[in-house]
Amino acid sequence: MEENEPYDFFETLFRLDASDDMHEFLEFVQGRRHSTADMLAAIAQLLARGRVRSAYILGMLLEKRGQRNIVMSLALSVGGLIFGNTIEEENGLQHLSAQVEALPPERLLEVYDRMVAPLVNQLWAASAAKQDPERVWRLLRHFQGAVREGFDWTAQVCKVCGSKAEYWFHALLRDRHRVAYYWCTQCEYLGTEASYWLSGEEEAAGEPLVTATARRQWARRRAFVSLLLLNLYDAQATCFDCSADGGRFARSMREAGFQFRHQNPQAVARAAEKRGKGGGELFELVTAFDVWQQFAEPGKVLDRLLARCDGVLFNVPLLPDPLPKPEEWEGYDLAGGRQVSFYAPRTLRRLAERRQLNWLSNGDELHLFTRRELSGEVFEGMARWVT
Ligand SMILES: [Zn+2]
Repeated sequence: MEENEPYDFFETLFRLDASDDMHEFLEFVQGRRHSTADMLAAIAQLLARGRVRSAYILGMLLEKRGQRNIVMSLALSVGGLIFGNTIEEENGLQHLSAQVEALPPERLLEVYDRMVAPLVNQLWAASAAKQDPERVWRLLRHFQGAVREGFDWTAQVCKVCGSKAEYWFHALLRDRHRVAYYWCTQCEYLGTEASYWLSGEEEAAGEPLVTATARRQWARRRAFVSLLLLNLYDAQATCFDCSADGGRFARSMREAGFQFRHQNPQAVARAAEKRGKGGGELFELVTAFDVWQQFAEPGKVLDRLLARCDGVLFNVPLLPDPLPKPEEWEGYDLAGGRQVSFYAPRTLRRLAERRQLNWLSNGDELHLFTRRELSGEVFEGMARWVT
């Protein structure tokens, strides 16, 4: 019997979809009567991967069989909109309201996160959306329950380079706040929406737990910064620190005989957002550890710091490539919920280039932006020596 022939439906389907050979794809999906359950599961996976055309074709085949399912309605409404078939678009939309309403809340979130969020940018890029944005809103409004009231799915301005930062996904922070993330395809900066879930007091606290690991890390940083100051800077001059450690690093540098001031990073961020360049005392070097992921406006903070020094030393873990989904990378720190900015190597290059800075790095987490002509090899060598 045909159904018992040895072939793997999903393996074949995804292979043909990826090969972009429409002819073979159609032949395969129309050639046999594949099970409805398999086809629905395939549509869900295709939508999750942003493969709208193939999902749309499967949706239309199931529609001919008289099937009704939310996954199909999505494929038809999204496919109809993107490929300019208003009849299929309406077919999909017609059933969507009732199907969304029938979902329990947790299933609505799942459908939204898995199948709708990955398509939002494709919807906005469709020519139909450019002529009539209301057509995109008609679809997205069904998922209002999965986002915050008044949430805007359109692109934002990138805080690093000013290009378009597109809506990318929602992640669940601290087990209860659903927060939107926007990604800039130009500089690869990833930022959250405005941090409504962080209260002012909590921001001000910023005290990390003093663990044995943290102590070792502070000791290494102190050793490295001491080396840097003694060899490449004026070790007698005053430095400025805005690390997120309640002033511990600055205190330990003072105990080691260096001149260090400390200011809470949130105070620095607030001052930077008021656009103040903050004249006054000049500093030999600025250190800013564990803090760049907490700055919602990294460009403005950097400008403010550079108005008073010519070098900023900092650490930041770099985003993996390709961009991981929320559950795929622990660097998002969803449980902690304090991190609002994420950087790729290209983001740091863009930040440095726009300000004519040299970017020195140990190839990992540690970076120095500086106007001075310093040797990258010396920097790297010292970083390696203390770690
Ligand atoms: Zn950008």
